[in-house]
Formats: sequence, structure tokens, C-alpha cells
Amino acid sequence: MAYIGHRCACGHLDVHHRADSASREHCEAVGGVRCGKGCRKSSTSILVPTFDLAGRRIETITEPGQWIGEGAGYSRAACACDDCRALHAELTGAAA
Ligand SMILES: [Zn+2]
Ligand SMILES: [Zn+2]
Ligand SMILES: [Zn+2]
Repeated sequence: MAYIGHRCACGHLDVHHRADSASREHCEAVGGVRCGKGCRKSSTSILVPTFDLAGRRIETITEPGQWIGEGAGYSRAACACDDCRALHAELTGAAA
């Protein structure tokens, strides 16, 4: 399912980031180890497209705060900040 998230300054999506014990987020996009490019989370919300096994685009957009990543190697809730909620409302035509 497509979902709304953020792309970090390191070039990877926020779903690849994990908070450490000091609750600083770090990137594990490269095989579960830190990519080392320097993380600065962008506040801009983007729609991240996803594809099924046949390569078809899945149009359904996961709602902010809903669980994403099942079977995709990560699992966490989609970002639910105000920007993401606003973009979701815009894309789905829901009343803002
Ligand atoms: Zn990264
Ligand atoms: Zn990062
Ligand atoms: Zn967000």
C-alpha cells in the first residue's frame, strides 16, 4: 500500500529510520546498518508509491498512523504529523 512519509536528508525514507536509546533517529536503509550520510528529517510530506508483485502500482493510500510495511522488511506506523494528514486528505478527497 502506498503511504505518506518523509524523505530524510540522507536520501532514504523515514520508514528506514529507527530511534536509538537516546530517541535519536538513525538510518538503517543499507542492510540494517547506519548509512552514515547524516540524517536530517525533512518536514515535507511525500506520497510513497508501492507496487504489488506483478509491478502494478497500488493506489490505495494507507492512512496516517496506520501500520505499514507488512512483508516489506520494515514495520512501523505511517507518519501521522499534520503535514501528512493534510496531504492524505488532499489526495483522497476527504474533507480537510
Ligand atoms: Zn540513510
Ligand atoms: Zn536519514
Ligand atoms: Zn509526517
